[in-house]
Amino acid sequence: MALSETWDLESIFPGGSNSPQLLDFLAQLDADFAVAENSALPGPLGPETEAEWIKTIQIAYNLGERLRQGAAFVGCLVSQDVKDDKALQLDADIDRMAARLGTLWTMLRAAFAEQPDDAWHVLLSHPPLNAVAFHLNEERDEARQKMAPELEALANDLAADGYHGWNRLYGLISGEPQVEFGGKPMSLGQLQSKMYDDPNRDVRRAAFDLFEQTWAGIAKPCASALNNQAGFRLALYKHRGWDSILKEPLMDNRLTASSLNAMWSVIAAKSGKLLDYFAAKAKLLGAGQLSWFDIYAPVGETNRSFSYTEAADFVVDNLRRFNPDIADFSRMAINQRWIEAEDRPGKRAGGFCTGLPLNKQSRIFMTFTGSVNGLMTLAHELGHAYHGWVMWDLPPGARRYSMGVAETASIFNETVVRNAAYQAAASNAERLSILATKLDDAISFLMDIRSRFEFESAFFKERAKKSLSVDELNALMEQAQRAAFKNGLTRYHPLFWASKLHFYITSAPFYNFPYTFGYLFSSGVFALAEAEGPAFGPKYVALLRDTGSLGTEALARKHLGVDLTKPAFWETAVDRILADVDTFVALTEQGVRSRN
Ligand SMILES: [Zn+2]
Repeated sequence: MALSETWDLESIFPGGSNSPQLLDFLAQLDADFAVAENSALPGPLGPETEAEWIKTIQIAYNLGERLRQGAAFVGCLVSQDVKDDKALQLDADIDRMAARLGTLWTMLRAAFAEQPDDAWHVLLSHPPLNAVAFHLNEERDEARQKMAPELEALANDLAADGYHGWNRLYGLISGEPQVEFGGKPMSLGQLQSKMYDDPNRDVRRAAFDLFEQTWAGIAKPCASALNNQAGFRLALYKHRGWDSILKEPLMDNRLTASSLNAMWSVIAAKSGKLLDYFAAKAKLLGAGQLSWFDIYAPVGETNRSFSYTEAADFVVDNLRRFNPDIADFSRMAINQRWIEAEDRPGKRAGGFCTGLPLNKQSRIFMTFTGSVNGLMTLAHELGHAYHGWVMWDLPPGARRYSMGVAETASIFNETVVRNAAYQAAASNAERLSILATKLDDAISFLMDIRSRFEFESAFFKERAKKSLSVDELNALMEQAQRAAFKNGLTRYHPLFWASKLHFYITSAPFYNFPYTFGYLFSSGVFALAEAEGPAFGPKYVALLRDTGSLGTEALARKHLGVDLTKPAFWETAVDRILADVDTFVALTEQGVRSRN
């Protein structure tokens, strides 16, 4: 029997965006927020006020849990039908409540910081707070490194229309241009996929030319948004006494600078190996040398197609060889209709996995078109759902993990399934195509993202002295790309700083290195899984469960027995990935010989 390709939302709140149960739920949440906002915080921490402190903290967690439930559900509604106006309206309500939760935690955090150490440690020794001590300490430490609470509150209020305003302005500027390409009107997003993914090199080149030309036309206001946003950030950090631009993103990722430096040094030393891949790929594409618009171009053949039922079987069967628990979980999620996979108009693009904490379930959103890529997306998102699944019995304060480790389970699943697809491939052309997608990931994480990190680091250094012109930004970008791509391309993309949304995200600064970190971290976990076989299953679960309760170095030490601040772990992870280069080159040569 064919599987259902649509998800079940009715068992969560029946009736979609008009669900009376959903509206009641959100109204009650809104009322409970108001109660929390109007309640004074408990007095100085001591034996008489401890119970009150515990209650106040529990209320904040509970509001967060329920908000997450509402946000996840409404997120599902707006994704499955872009014309659901009622859902969009609810989404805006949720955003406002999320801001209120943020304010609540800012106050709590500041209050934590004011309590004496001994009373604080006694408080955290009591259940249920002992299980979330890591998170509460983290919040307290953060407040201690910031300015006085009234100054932080002022900065926060000013940031709403200042700092974050630059991000919104960028959204407006970058969403504006419509282009005509090949006689068809297109958004810049569509043009970008022509320049990266079109099989025809002339089409890619023409799309790239138009892409650069279009961004050049709006580069001035983009540069202004970037300069002003960065100026705001630098001023705020100065007032907090923070001397490193990386302090905030490292804190967000529970990582130290030594680990990050160790990772980048190993990548810098080893990524030149990818130039062999560049050369082989250039030959396949009929280019003398790769240009920017060639780096992600498809090679080989990818005409194999799967029904959704076949894809689900392929994913589950191959996960089972590695770990029966992930397979059983995935089968359950598929059969219980946690996945929206149908290919129909009116859905949003992309894929995600979202958790419904009150049901201890997840929902996966994607559009399955039958391609090998769709197979990978299914495996990837099921990995996120599994990560959530093994953590549901933990309290909310122990379930918050950073972006750096968020992709551990998803990339792990993807690796298992991609390797299986490679084994199952029927021809050299298919094998080439699968290996190329793996190596394109390596380009993306080891070169492309590295160039973004190098650019952003250099930009902030210069910006501390003065605003940068469009030409100066272009020059910094190209310099970073030349370094990261080892001078291996004939053309670069100097206006990348304008075209990439990530540089303008104010809520998560340096929205780049956590991707590379997660990719290599997952590669390290996979290496261990391969080495240990079935014994790894319970270890894997223990690692995933601890992602919300340990700093990243401690997590790696405890569960992988490795030191992230030293090069060894990174060397193994990078070597594993780059081992595919020689296989790819050998396959290309075989292909060439058999054609002759
Ligand atoms: Zn993911």
